[in-house]
Amino acid sequence: DLVVHYETRGPGALFGRSQTVHAVDGIDFALQTNETLALVGESGCGKSTTGRAALMLERPTSGQVRFEGQDLATLPRRQLTAMRRHLQMVFQDPIGSLNARHTVGYAIAEPLLVHNLRPRGQRADRVTELLELVGLPADAADRYPYEFSGGQCQRIGIARALAAEPQFIVLDEPVSALDVSIQAQILQLLTDLQTRLGLSYLFIAHDLAVVGQMSDRVAVMYLGQIVEIAARDSLYTGPMHPYTQALFSAVPEPSVGADRQTVVVSGEVPSPVDPPAGCRFHTRCPMAQEVCAVEPPTLRDVGSDHQVACHFAEDAVQANPFGLHLEG
Ligand code: SF4
Ligand code: MG
Repeated sequence: DLVVHYETRGPGALFGRSQTVHAVDGIDFALQTNETLALVGESGCGKSTTGRAALMLERPTSGQVRFEGQDLATLPRRQLTAMRRHLQMVFQDPIGSLNARHTVGYAIAEPLLVHNLRPRGQRADRVTELLELVGLPADAADRYPYEFSGGQCQRIGIARALAAEPQFIVLDEPVSALDVSIQAQILQLLTDLQTRLGLSYLFIAHDLAVVGQMSDRVAVMYLGQIVEIAARDSLYTGPMHPYTQALFSAVPEPSVGADRQTVVVSGEVPSPVDPPAGCRFHTRCPMAQEVCAVEPPTLRDVGSDHQVACHFAEDAVQANPFGLHLEG
């Protein structure tokens, strides 16, 4: 039941009244060893805030974040710091997330220093090992981030995230800033590392083609809530929430021509300062009935490892309001 609200100034600039942003509003999910859960949704739906809260980079307003059974939100600071080595993040902007004034070797070794993990004399060896793990030559350690391409910088970011031997990594749009040809290489690297090291990934993304390659399970977020969560294949062959269906209908179909990238949900995303009552999607949903503006739907089982929060999900599958062509 994770909730993250924060205060912000309204559009009245300096003297605007303080407003509460409902960034994340009561979500639940669990991740197993070796599993990738993807979080998808439009920008501003709370994906990154969820990722940051999962790492305690953002304090939850309420709810729990448990790692191996322990609630991180109530851990004393020192224990939380010690726990942090198991929880890491890879960022969207591979170049900007590295300090331009530090060598690559320093960037990768920094977590070892912070967590006091290897004797000084062994740190250089560990850096070499990590560079090899992500497919970079050992001499990269003495160079600076600007000497590397975006894809190479993302490999450095991954090596840095792996330095303290984490078990859980939040990947926040790790390939969306990269060329398509490079994306595939980084995704393959992440997949190989997961198998090799037994990692759990929370994979934040908006590109459903990429998510289809990377995830075991997928959670779809809309305005701070999970509206559908399912095993990947179940979701990709039978999305049941009208919003999920809308997202899939916006994916270009190669057979029809790559320019069929129509965004099909009409209307603006409502503000997370004042989310609609009832179902938050009702202002844009082609399936909406009167009850939708009043009764918030909760997640319910609609199959094995498939849950959806919609009063009329079965009708939406029948009606197929966005004209999806799905097999299976
Ligand atoms: Fe649409 Fe109603 Fe389902 Fe919400 S509950 S997605 S408004 S049909
Ligand atoms: Mg984001």
